[in-house]
Amino acid sequence: MKILLAKTAGFCMGVRRAVEMALDTANRATGPVYTYGPLIHNPQVLAVLAEKGVEVLEEIPAQGRGTVIIRAHGVAPGDRSLLEAAGFTVVDATCPRVVKVQSLIRRYVDQGYGVVIAGDPDHPEVRGLLAHAGPTGRVAASAGEVDGQDLPSPVLVVAQTTQDAETFQAVVEAVKDRLGEENVQVFNTICDSTSRRQTEAAELAAAADAVVVVGGSQSGNTRRLAGIAKKTGKPVFQVETETELDPAVFAEIRTVALTAGASTPHWLIRRVHRALAEPGKSARPGLSGRLLRALFLTNLLLALGAASMCLAAVFLMGLAPSLLLPAAAAGYILSMHILNNFIGRNAFRYNDPERARFYERHRSLLLALAGGGIALCLFAGAAAGIGALVLYAAMTVIGLSYNVPLRQSERGLMAKYPRIRSLPGSKTLVVSLGWAIACALGPAAVLEASFGPALVAAAWVFCLLFARTAFFDVLDVQVDRMVGQETAATWLGAGRTLILCRWLLAGATAAASLLAWSVGGGAWLLVLVSGAPAVILVLHGRGLLHAGWMLEVVMDANFFLAGLLALAGRVAS
Ligand code: SF4
Repeated sequence: MKILLAKTAGFCMGVRRAVEMALDTANRATGPVYTYGPLIHNPQVLAVLAEKGVEVLEEIPAQGRGTVIIRAHGVAPGDRSLLEAAGFTVVDATCPRVVKVQSLIRRYVDQGYGVVIAGDPDHPEVRGLLAHAGPTGRVAASAGEVDGQDLPSPVLVVAQTTQDAETFQAVVEAVKDRLGEENVQVFNTICDSTSRRQTEAAELAAAADAVVVVGGSQSGNTRRLAGIAKKTGKPVFQVETETELDPAVFAEIRTVALTAGASTPHWLIRRVHRALAEPGKSARPGLSGRLLRALFLTNLLLALGAASMCLAAVFLMGLAPSLLLPAAAAGYILSMHILNNFIGRNAFRYNDPERARFYERHRSLLLALAGGGIALCLFAGAAAGIGALVLYAAMTVIGLSYNVPLRQSERGLMAKYPRIRSLPGSKTLVVSLGWAIACALGPAAVLEASFGPALVAAAWVFCLLFARTAFFDVLDVQVDRMVGQETAATWLGAGRTLILCRWLLAGATAAASLLAWSVGGGAWLLVLVSGAPAVILVLHGRGLLHAGWMLEVVMDANFFLAGLLALAGRVAS
């Protein structure tokens, strides 16, 4: 079945900002954390916030303690002061676009205008806007609701930011019919993110045999999307999670459009996408597919990739090949990735439940593999000499200390960053440094390479690994924020991280070129290694590749390419 995934599906800017502010507050605050009303209309996200101890404050008490987050929909004027007066610290996550509509309303009210808001009277954004309009504010959910109302004149007509254009236009016409065009000032305040999402939903629905809309059943904008899709006459399925999909229904469908409301997180869309792509898992993968999946889940594929990268780095430094060093690199990377995945397995619950189950079910096997990886690393180090053994032992201790509390402290930096993994961007940085040491600096020290080439080779590995890890961090940024994982994307934001990835790939090309210049001959082949991740980045940016384990396998195949090119380069040289 072909899946047409909407590029606009998922959190809008305002919701993403509010959720990030709430999660950052929950991860860092020391006292209680509340949202003033439910943060968004998505029960799965609200459940995650509840798990993190974020409670919902329905009424402002006379006295309180802790932090209150004002949601993206905004609040009535005066509520913020009331919260502060009660003793709360206020984090205002009102969407800047909603703030603009509130200001517009106040400006016109000051000039003597009444206000009509085309929207759902029970929606928190509309209740907030109405409070800004004061006694001359009115709400109309449809053109029909304009008729029975006592309308002020002159009047400003605005829309709830997630309103559909057709309903808004109908309300505007109804108000003009009642008051005359000269007494009506119209501002289309529908958010462009809403219009783009609705236009794309209509286009995709027209091109598909059926439509799946993911979002909370109470989410107005999700229901509106489903309504727009239904107008094409195609069957529309509005679901909150993948468990509501009936595989039998989709067995006969050839093309399905997949979109989601503004309050639907990407990890839920990803799970629905996966369920549609693998309906019921009825087609059990063949032996090669199962083997590939097992190698991927156990991190053995990544370990073999590390061995390949080590071979390539040794070649780029102009050193003689050795089997011990790739074995040590493979053992080190295998053990560190398994152990760190155990620590971060909470994240798999959301974005890859199958991997989470695998980690629960095969705990002993994975821990044995991690132990075996450490043993292999130390054995290979010992065989290479006492200096190498000390180096690999030190690397192992540093790798294992990633999640260990450094020093208990109530104040200062140690209180804020009690572990290496609490430092901003630490996961991406530690993974990339680990690879650079295991695949380049370690071998350079053992083989007594010159300092310059060793450093450039380490920079080459570091840049490639950082770009690879940061790219996946961008895909997982929402879940990482939920579970408090510190990655490049949670620190810099998705956009800046992707820009950084491009620069790092350019840096990797420059480093490989510099080394190839000095080694000459077949080493120039390794300049190609940055090309594949660059293409993946571009294809993903154009919506042509979707997150999943196969994308990781494809990305990691680049490490094997590096090893193969190094072998080809040696033969050619
Ligand atoms: S739909 Fe637009 S205005 Fe409303 S919260 Fe999202 S970004 Fe802000």
